[in-house]
Amino acid sequence: MHNILIINAGSSSIKYQLIEMEGKTVPAKGLVERIGIEGSRLKYKSDSGKIIIEKPIPTHDEAIKLVLETLVDSEMGVIKSMDEIKAVGHRVLHGGDKFTGSVLVDDSVLAAIEENAPLAPLHNMAQKKGIEACMKIMPNTPMVVVFDTAFHQTMPPKAYLYGIPYEDYEEFKIRRYGFHGTSHRYVSLRTAKLLGKKPEECRVIVCHLGNGSSVSAVDHGKCVDTSMGLTPLEGVIMGTRCGSIDPAIVGKLMEWKGMNSQEIDEYLNKKCGVLGISGFSSDFRDLGDAAEQGNKRAQLALEAFSYSVKKYIGSYAAVMNGVDAIAFTGGIGENDEIVRRMVMTGMEYLGIDFDFALSDKPQRGIELELTKPGSTTRVFIVPTNEELAIATDTYELTT
Ligand code: AMP
Repeated sequence: MHNILIINAGSSSIKYQLIEMEGKTVPAKGLVERIGIEGSRLKYKSDSGKIIIEKPIPTHDEAIKLVLETLVDSEMGVIKSMDEIKAVGHRVLHGGDKFTGSVLVDDSVLAAIEENAPLAPLHNMAQKKGIEACMKIMPNTPMVVVFDTAFHQTMPPKAYLYGIPYEDYEEFKIRRYGFHGTSHRYVSLRTAKLLGKKPEECRVIVCHLGNGSSVSAVDHGKCVDTSMGLTPLEGVIMGTRCGSIDPAIVGKLMEWKGMNSQEIDEYLNKKCGVLGISGFSSDFRDLGDAAEQGNKRAQLALEAFSYSVKKYIGSYAAVMNGVDAIAFTGGIGENDEIVRRMVMTGMEYLGIDFDFALSDKPQRGIELELTKPGSTTRVFIVPTNEELAIATDTYELTT
């Protein structure tokens, strides 16, 4: 049995999965919520059922302790002792320009996570806390860090540099990093498989469309461009994030609405995107239902979102001198037929013969080709599995 524990820590939450690598199964998974806040609880699901434990969980250390106690519990647990966990894989948001792949945790890695914290203050420090909590309770178990940014580190300077003074790039490391890297890597590899090719033999555009959305150009196995930037705010319009906007808007908002930089940050990250356009929801299911009933702003939000995705597809096809396959993934990419239809309408110029009828049928969790036989560029749904990708890296680095 090769059990790998996957930890995705946030500032007040920890999502986790125990993955058994031989059968690629998930014996148990769960979520600790409201760490350090009143009403904290652990939600846990295994083959023997679901439970919720409500109790004070003041720190990440306490949260990890509770996660492990539940996993080894004689009634609801799935392993007999912590020794059955071979390694722990931690998701970390920002690896800066230091990490091009996953790494075993040591003091220098922990220091680098902290060094990159100014680029992702909430995430990196919380994720470091998660790693340290595991190291305390499981001092002899190897820990691996998988960075969201690592897959995008192959981008050439012309793709990652902004048009700002080079000195500011050098001093503050202001550049494009890109996120969702684990998903883009996993999905691009699966897409190459579906094409019957090696990753080095094809050009793939991955559309990871979820609450946060990003598109990437994967040229012969290497990421050459991606839509998110210094932070996950750039790129396509998202659930509540604005995506790319004219930077002058920031100054104008400060002037016209009297907002300070913190308020601007909150506004651009939480109040914009399709929520801002529709005025009522960031959930694409709500938007789809409302648009069907004639809600104009919901329709507009769906159109603006899909249009921004379509523009990235076009520009990445230009960047790679063509494209062999486009993959839709994430909650929206995998499930939202309205968005897929909007994005794929008028894409014949790329050699795409899209099967709209097939795409419109509800699909659940399966890899599926959406183009007709003979289509020179092919389109797929590829359900992402970031946890499995993290577990695979962790397994490979520790066995
Ligand atoms: P993710 O962040 O990848 O979990 O994606 C979450 C988003 O996927 C939600 O905001 C929903 O808008 C969207 N979503 C999930 N299921 C569906 C569905 N059946 N139809 C349309 N959108 C969906």
